[in-house]
Amino acid sequence: MESSLKEYFGFSKFRPYQKEIVENILQGKDCLVVMATGSGKSLCYQVPPLIAQKTAVVVSPLISLMQDQVMVLKQRGIRAEYLSSAQTDRNVHTNAESGQFDILYMTPEKACMLTASFWSRLLESGICLFAVDEAHCISEWGHNFRVEYKQLDKLRDVLSNIPFVALTATATEKVRGDIINSLKLQNPHVTIGSFDRKNLFYSVVSFDRSNTFLNELVSEISACIQKAGSTIIYCTTVKDVEQIFEYLKAAGIEAGMYHGQMSNKAREDCHRAFIRDEFYVMVATIAFGMGIDKPNIRHVIHYGCPKSLESYYQESGRCGRDGIPSFCRLYFTRSDFTKADFYCADARTADQRKAIMESFMAAQRYCMLTTCRRNFLLGYFGEKTSSVNCGTCDNCTNSKQESDMSREAFLLMACIQSCQGHWGLNLPVDVLRGSKSKKVLDGKFDKLPFHGLGKDKPANWWKALAYQLISQDYLVETFRDIYKTVRVGPRGMQFLNSCNPDHQPPLYLTLTPELAV
Ligand code: ADP
Ligand code: ZN
Repeated sequence: MESSLKEYFGFSKFRPYQKEIVENILQGKDCLVVMATGSGKSLCYQVPPLIAQKTAVVVSPLISLMQDQVMVLKQRGIRAEYLSSAQTDRNVHTNAESGQFDILYMTPEKACMLTASFWSRLLESGICLFAVDEAHCISEWGHNFRVEYKQLDKLRDVLSNIPFVALTATATEKVRGDIINSLKLQNPHVTIGSFDRKNLFYSVVSFDRSNTFLNELVSEISACIQKAGSTIIYCTTVKDVEQIFEYLKAAGIEAGMYHGQMSNKAREDCHRAFIRDEFYVMVATIAFGMGIDKPNIRHVIHYGCPKSLESYYQESGRCGRDGIPSFCRLYFTRSDFTKADFYCADARTADQRKAIMESFMAAQRYCMLTTCRRNFLLGYFGEKTSSVNCGTCDNCTNSKQESDMSREAFLLMACIQSCQGHWGLNLPVDVLRGSKSKKVLDGKFDKLPFHGLGKDKPANWWKALAYQLISQDYLVETFRDIYKTVRVGPRGMQFLNSCNPDHQPPLYLTLTPELAV
């Protein structure tokens, strides 16, 4: 095994988990491989065919990606090809079924369309594994559900004795369960690597969509280009993509664009040009992404709160694949948080909607976090961390300004408690600020003792405070249908019950820019 690794790939040793996965595949076992982006998952299905001298069939979602992989493998002397509906070369087909390739990539659509006789011929020639890359696409709980993936289960019966290898960088337990069930993995060998991307720095900034901000963005990107590093800017809408693209162009920065409203060809051309460093900046929606194996992405910027924490982890994870320190920056505005129904538009069942809401809320919490971002991310994927302070996120490196907010926190939580948890943040904040709006008067909230006690602070100040209390579990947000409500959680109740605000242990909170004004 080591000599194949050296001979074909030029690597002197396996990375963690790779060898045991290869061994399990060679022994005929199904495998589920959940490992971070850049950890070397591809090698796990690229080595077995070289040893077993049989074809590895690999399902992968993107043609451009397969083309790149095939090109690289061929340069290494490995016989690789891909099959897709766009592949018109009949010879490839014939050579494939007679076992002429070590690695045969195909799209999921193609895999489902191939005839029984194709598979039986290829089986006769010898198949050493059937790999499903980006396997989370099979799950509705994943962040990138694809219907074609769901149909791959048909092949389980056709290839009943062939080891199935599902690979993904998405870790949640629900998605893992879905993958095992959908692909009918039999007692699989499960590998779950660490999700800690030690070379990535995480940072979050709340921003306004002004020209000052855009100027800062331009200088941030220019600095990156000067070091020959690439940047991806992820936007939540096509409109934002176009706007940022135009702005960069006007500022003299050459960039590419990628979104769902472009033709397949335009997208693939753009993808390829980016991979080949013809330009250093890609402005894109999340349509751009799966399997971008570009080592020198130094910077991933999110322009707007992402739709889920899973997708944030994946998208930000596209930088620094070569292990060199790289930078993930997320810009958000509060108005991003009102997009829940936009994201829910695709949900077909109540469960799906709940899943979408929950992961969107996790992304919001990540934005508002005042503690270590890495720990929060890893914790979300069920990974325990040993240190409180990672040293490579904004919250761990900023010299924190903390101040005693006990009184204010008490007021806000008591007010929320009196509003009985049926409301979002606006109502209790209005009450504190002494509003006489119809809603306040109708509910007789103006009679509450807190009415008007917080009018010295702007509404956004109180909301910023609320978000900090949410991120520290004093307050809890839940959804009633698509409306967010906020209530006092157990930790907040303990705080409220412990005494009156003047006689209790101080509640220190970090001063965010909003709270510092
Ligand atoms: P993943 O699919 O998990 O995101 P890749 O398979 O694309 O990751 O691998 C990421 C990078 O690590 C690639 O550039 C690959 O060549 C390199 N790599 C993989 N395995 C090894 C190894 N054993 N030794 C050195 N480099 C490796
Ligand atoms: Zn940290």
